Amino acid sequence: MTKEEVDRKWWEIGDFFRRNSLWMLMYCTGCCAIELPPAMTSAYDMERLGMGPMATPRQADVLLVTGYLSLKTLRRLIYTYEQMSEPKYVVGFGSCTINGGIYHDSHAVINQLDQYIPVDTYVAGCMPNTEAVMNGFIDLMELIKTKKADGWKRYHENYEWYKKNQLDSLGSIEVKDEFHE
Ligand code: SF4
Repeated sequence: MTKEEVDRKWWEIGDFFRRNSLWMLMYCTGCCAIELPPAMTSAYDMERLGMGPMATPRQADVLLVTGYLSLKTLRRLIYTYEQMSEPKYVVGFGSCTINGGIYHDSHAVINQLDQYIPVDTYVAGCMPNTEAVMNGFIDLMELIKTKKADGWKRYHENYEWYKKNQLDSLGSIEVKDEFHE
């Protein structure tokens, strides 16, 4: 076996465990967040998918962005995303993360989350119901299985583009961690 084949095998094994044990950091920015608690109740029971909440970015696998994002919140979101260990995944909840939704013409709210950080999958709707939330999680697991949840790699490859968008909207961003050193 070549080194590349061994590496690929290890990633496949890692992806198997990762997708069946996803720890989520819930960045509850908007009203979509109200549909998350029912996903943890016995009616939907997200833990049967191996998913659960995580309080700190460095130990989380998935960043959930649940709705609209003001510019002030966006800055914190970028800090949070960059503190997460790789591989890491992002799920955008609700129309507001896709195109700004009903706040699309607000001066204080961003319109497209994926202009600032990579998004692996979206859950559309205003607000998406709990069934859609669960489907979003299952979609993410499938994307990890098929190696398509590669937003964290795209962030590296296109970092200058993301950084420019971040700076254009926010002005200076001071992040001091291992990602930038
Ligand atoms: S998509 Fe609708 S429910 Fe979700 S944050 Fe935006 S306005 Fe609120």
